[in-house]
Amino acid sequence: STDSVESGQARDPGALNSAGRAFPALAPTFGFRTSLGQWLSLARLETRTLLRSLPFLVLMLFGLLNLTGNLSSELNGRFLYPVTHRMLSTIAGGFDLFLLIVIVFYSAELVWREKKHRFHEIQGSLPVPSWTFLTSKFAALTVLILVSLTLAMGLTMVFQLVKGFHHLEPGLYLRGLFVMSFSEWLLLAVIAMFTQVIGRQRYLGFFLMMLYFLVNTFGPELGMEHHLFFYRSTPAVIYSDMNGYGHFADAALWFKFFWGLLAVIMLTVAARLWPRGSQDSLWPALRNLPSRWRPVHSGIVTAAGLGFMACGAFIYYNTNILNDFEPGDDDERVQANYESQFKDYQKNPSPRVTAVVAEVDFYPEQRRVDIRGTFDLANKTDQFIEELYLNINPLQELRSLSLDNGLTLTEPTQWDQETGFRVYHLTEAVAPGRTVKLSFDLGADIDGFVNNGANPEIVANGSFISNLDYLPRIGYLSDLELTVPTDRRKQGLDPEWSMPSLDDPENLMTTFISDADHITFEAVVSTCAGQTAIAPGKLQAQWEQDGRRYFSYRVDEPILNFYAFLSGRYEVAREQWHDVDLEVFYHKDHAVNVPRMLESMRATLDYCTASFSPYPYEQLRIVEFPRYRRFAQAFPGTVPFSESADFISDLRDTDNIDMVFYITAHEIAHQWWGHQLIPANVPGGQMITESLAQYTALMVMEKDLGPSRVGKFLQYELMNYLRGRGAERDEEMPLFREEGQSYVYYRKGSLVFYALRDYLGEDVVNDALQEFLMAHLDQGPPYATAPELLERLRERTPPQYAYLIEDLFETITLYDNRTEAVTCTRTENGRFRVVVDYVSRKYQADGQGLEVEVPHQDWVELGVFGEDADGQEIQLCREKRRLTTGEGRLEVIVDQEPKRAGIDPRNLLIDRVVGDNSKAVSMGAG
Ligand SMILES: [Zn+2]
Repeated sequence: STDSVESGQARDPGALNSAGRAFPALAPTFGFRTSLGQWLSLARLETRTLLRSLPFLVLMLFGLLNLTGNLSSELNGRFLYPVTHRMLSTIAGGFDLFLLIVIVFYSAELVWREKKHRFHEIQGSLPVPSWTFLTSKFAALTVLILVSLTLAMGLTMVFQLVKGFHHLEPGLYLRGLFVMSFSEWLLLAVIAMFTQVIGRQRYLGFFLMMLYFLVNTFGPELGMEHHLFFYRSTPAVIYSDMNGYGHFADAALWFKFFWGLLAVIMLTVAARLWPRGSQDSLWPALRNLPSRWRPVHSGIVTAAGLGFMACGAFIYYNTNILNDFEPGDDDERVQANYESQFKDYQKNPSPRVTAVVAEVDFYPEQRRVDIRGTFDLANKTDQFIEELYLNINPLQELRSLSLDNGLTLTEPTQWDQETGFRVYHLTEAVAPGRTVKLSFDLGADIDGFVNNGANPEIVANGSFISNLDYLPRIGYLSDLELTVPTDRRKQGLDPEWSMPSLDDPENLMTTFISDADHITFEAVVSTCAGQTAIAPGKLQAQWEQDGRRYFSYRVDEPILNFYAFLSGRYEVAREQWHDVDLEVFYHKDHAVNVPRMLESMRATLDYCTASFSPYPYEQLRIVEFPRYRRFAQAFPGTVPFSESADFISDLRDTDNIDMVFYITAHEIAHQWWGHQLIPANVPGGQMITESLAQYTALMVMEKDLGPSRVGKFLQYELMNYLRGRGAERDEEMPLFREEGQSYVYYRKGSLVFYALRDYLGEDVVNDALQEFLMAHLDQGPPYATAPELLERLRERTPPQYAYLIEDLFETITLYDNRTEAVTCTRTENGRFRVVVDYVSRKYQADGQGLEVEVPHQDWVELGVFGEDADGQEIQLCREKRRLTTGEGRLEVIVDQEPKRAGIDPRNLLIDRVVGDNSKAVSMGAG
């Protein structure tokens, strides 16, 4: 038993000899109880000393100060409620480094403390087993970690309460800090002590720790990506309010257990190699190891070792056999292969999907989905179709595939396992104009866990799959191509990638959905009890069968071949807008902004139906999904929103940008820009979908919140645009020929359309948009293009502003507008004469950012601002004046005392330097 072995160790004649002589008169007892008593008093002593030591207190103080700093700074104008999982990641970002330093420093401090105080020889001679020293010190370190985590938790909880956020989640703190983090810190403490013990000196121990950190940091970058290679390494864990730790917990806990077993071995070895007394070097200790080694050590090491290997094998089985182990850059290789092997098929005729009927069964707990369905495939070409090209997500098992009307499918003549691309030869060619029905039965069943990149789509609560990933797609998919030149070069492809040219009319015949025009859509979606399953369309019926819930949906209008299926435990908020059912499906703790979302839905529907066209569906719904993916996406009448932002945005301070209202308006606007007006898959397409959604959201927001808050938002857009073009590594495109750069189609798009509205008037811009929409509504190919919209805008632009279309859309034009001085004098009749001295320059940049100054005589806003009785800024003058290049002077007379004035003070034009456009007024004599 343990006690006899350990007391045996204490009676080791060698140990007694090193003390010089024995103490026979005391007749000490060395039973387990004695050892335990010794251990407890040692552990208490070590802990007390540790917690009272100055470096610990100082480091904790700095850690908590830094954490406070991180808590109070918010990113990118997004103000979110301090929900607990955010607090946990803030602790990881702002406190962990200090705790790491504490652990590494005190591991050394603890191992070498007796030596430092020249007490080590006495300690080494005491009749106390070595494991007592090691484990009591380790216990002290454990308490130190617990105290640190508790302090961090206390601080974040106080922060939550101070912010008026009362939904504290002690259970989540327990799991996040005292299971997930704590276990990692313990593993760190073990290796930190182990390196000190085998290093035999403090600095050698630190050096070994540094090696460990270097290996863990750079190993994965050298291509060793399996977490099994790196002590303490586990797959990333993402917490979601909707889905908890979900499927991430399994992987993380198995890895932690695996490393924990290795830690047990390290601790046992460290106890045996403990630098007892004046044993300074490692070699004598290693030589003595066999004589000090007892069956219990063999027992512990053998059991832990076997467990370690079995656990490693189980992990390997999960990550590499049940699932594919995919190195980080593997996607690029797979995409490159797809392009080089299959691009030739793009020119062969392919049928287009015209009708979809689907049955989708979610089994959320098993992380499984089964999909059966039919596609009507029409040959809209003038050629016979002899081969069918299908893309099926390799995650899925294809159970059956068939064609109607006696057409049979042979086994695929080509099948790429990595991308799921299959080529089928048709026994009889499909004639032009003919439609065939393709039936399929497939499913995805996610087993076990992966090393990295766990599937975020099929989860226990909040599954969200789209047809682009989970239903068959027809033909070669150009959206899988790599587009970034450096990525292409790395994979041996021609680095030049460009979108299909606008000049070839053939390219206008298809959209980003390459295999369909409009489709009809119906689906029955089922899920487990307690969850709601959602698809686009009106809910036709709902029933229960065998403990499962079924929902049948149909869209009465033709839609894009772009839809999604979702399943989750939802609360629902319902309202009515004319004949349209408004619904928000949300997680029970995320109700706070739902009313605001409904307001935005309503406001956007009002604006778009009045300005552009009727809303085509009978329902409009927002559905929440877990924050594994952070975006919102507009499907027909159904808009999934990530839980990451808008559901937890803090709107209580009305000075902040109302992201909930804005993002909702943007997504609802896509029901027009993207779903009713569909761009061809050519450059400028995103200007039609994204820039117009931004413009619509700005208009809706301005009506609700007023121009000054929209102005604030535009400043933020301008800053992001300038930052985006500064970071461009390839080539910046003018807005109407953008090729997918988001800083161009979102950020610049907002600025451009807002400015255009300001110069031309809202009615003029909206008339052009409405005419453009009507020309394409329900028309199918050829699809809409940006130059068409420009023509419609150009027609409506008064001659003096004609240059604007070119400056805003067709070139990269920037201004450097600056106000040098503003003076004001009183006129005889008590009014105020304001004189603005300015410098104005205009530049055109090429795609690489090279700027050339162009002389100009452009119309720029002159703005003068005063204050109302409450001290709020009000605009006293706003008029467009014609400026000239370089220095100039403008004059205006206003009725009230001016405070600030300048040229283009609202930054309607893209200005390289934000903030110098206006200046405070200095009052002159007179
Ligand atoms: Zn969008």
